[in-house]
Amino acid sequence: MARAEGAYLGLAVGDALGATVEFMTPREIAHHHGTHRDIRGGGWLKLRRGQVTDDTGMALALGDSMLRSGRVDPVDIADAFSDWMRTKPVDIGNTVRRGIVHYRSTGECRVPPSEHDAGNGACMRCLPVALGYLGAGPETLAQANRRQAHVTHNNPVADAGTLTVLKMVQAALLGEGPTALRALADDLAQRHRAYRFDRRRMENPSAYLGDTLKAVFQSLFATDDFESALVDVINRGGDADTTGAILGMIAGALYGRDAIPERWVSTLEKDTRRRCLTQARSLITLIPSLRAAL
Ligand code: MN
Ligand code: MN
Repeated sequence: MARAEGAYLGLAVGDALGATVEFMTPREIAHHHGTHRDIRGGGWLKLRRGQVTDDTGMALALGDSMLRSGRVDPVDIADAFSDWMRTKPVDIGNTVRRGIVHYRSTGECRVPPSEHDAGNGACMRCLPVALGYLGAGPETLAQANRRQAHVTHNNPVADAGTLTVLKMVQAALLGEGPTALRALADDLAQRHRAYRFDRRRMENPSAYLGDTLKAVFQSLFATDDFESALVDVINRGGDADTTGAILGMIAGALYGRDAIPERWVSTLEKDTRRRCLTQARSLITLIPSLRAAL
């Protein structure tokens, strides 16, 4: 439970911390912030201090849908994403917007396969699937992920990357350490060259999932505590709220809730913190019904 709560709070603090420097280069970050290490809002979205963005917002929408329907139901998820878009979120990715508009106009909760859908939008929101399908077999997990992902992103390379993130979170939830997580990342890199992270340092990562996960893996495996890992990935700039969110969920599961600095958790907006903790606890208890319900 502490690891599940850590994963959810890690996602939200990573999003809130990274959003301030999203789309900046490491050089610009160093110039304006030195090392960026405190949640202070601002950035190109002009956020309130402690406010999160679409990464956390979509994960919470997906989690609400799973709790409501007791499974990963693509129609219910598409409705949840559509409702979320109606709340006028502070940011929304182009591929996500296109997928939701596709659902509204056709009623189809699955976009056609596209080589352009390898962005990080389906990965940044995947956390509820990791918790809800803890202990499920690999094919059930993969299928649950494809159902949520393909509402907006239908691409096999992105599916493979997101599935690996889900497996890493699950391994960490079950008490595995960095060695087991590294083996999962290495296996992904071996199967898809887009994810080879053992080469050049990834700075200014784009919203392409290959870039995003290279930065996340490099920061995760170069550090040994939550704060160092998150500060390292955020200060690479680029799609920093999303690298922060993905690293935050993995590292939060790996190191547990108590490893997340209290100054970050207490700065999160109250409603966000409450929803994260409620979903973490509820999704873990939903496990048996979810496993049976795909
Ligand atoms: Mn965002
Ligand atoms: Mn982003």
